[in-house]
Amino acid sequence: MKKFIILVLFLYATVYSIKMVPTLFHTVRPKQAKQCEKINVVFNNNSDQSTGEILRIQKKRSSEIILYSCGSNHDKKIALTFDDGPGQSTKEILQILKKVNAKATFFMLGERIQKNPELAKEVFALGHEIANHTYEHKNFYDYNGEDKMHEMEKGLLKCEKIIKKMLNVKPFFVRFPYGYAKHDAIKVARDNGYYVVNWSFGIDWAKIGAEEMHRKYKHAIRNGAIFLMHDLPKNSKVLLFLEAFVNEIKEAGYEIVTLSNLLNIKPDNEK
Ligand SMILES: [Zn+2]
Repeated sequence: MKKFIILVLFLYATVYSIKMVPTLFHTVRPKQAKQCEKINVVFNNNSDQSTGEILRIQKKRSSEIILYSCGSNHDKKIALTFDDGPGQSTKEILQILKKVNAKATFFMLGERIQKNPELAKEVFALGHEIANHTYEHKNFYDYNGEDKMHEMEKGLLKCEKIIKKMLNVKPFFVRFPYGYAKHDAIKVARDNGYYVVNWSFGIDWAKIGAEEMHRKYKHAIRNGAIFLMHDLPKNSKVLLFLEAFVNEIKEAGYEIVTLSNLLNIKPDNEK
């Protein structure tokens, strides 16, 4: 009996110490890094959908759609993306990006472009990529209406119309608010010539200091990373470390590129 108890204690200690190893050697990766994968989503066109609107959308296009949250593992390329603008810190971010000679991708909201058209034009004129973040940042995780896909499409196309009118360009990347990327969102995107792009790492909304935030972003630098940040509010912590962060990325031998370069994607009509 004594031997048995010793054996049980020994086994428990062994299992516990193995469990602790990743923590001891800091090998635990930030949760977001796991999102970095290419997901193939296959739609079943025969699935029973209730509204005519959804059936109409389903008939329009076919089956295999892709969601991106990173680029290739093999290329030393990284993309910086800024959401929700043009906003209070866009101007400063543009100045920093100019100083460090980096091009980013801006996921803009239609209603914010309407409020700040000149700022949107400036982002585009400086050579950054413009992408669609829908018109008004509706949260489709919470949306329960039967017309969900129709609402998504409406938000997408309303924003697109504004971008086309103001900047004379048709965006082809969309990030739905809060990274909503379920089958219906991806389908709506592809039906309208868009690719859904989320991110491999983003944390600029967290209630932590700028220094810690900077450290976490730096820790997530790797091949194909897509960093998510926001070009608001005015006192965004990102402004405190963006310049240093970009320099660190470059010093580590990475090229900072737009999403179309990172993902090697051109608009559907240019293929
Ligand atoms: Zn957003």
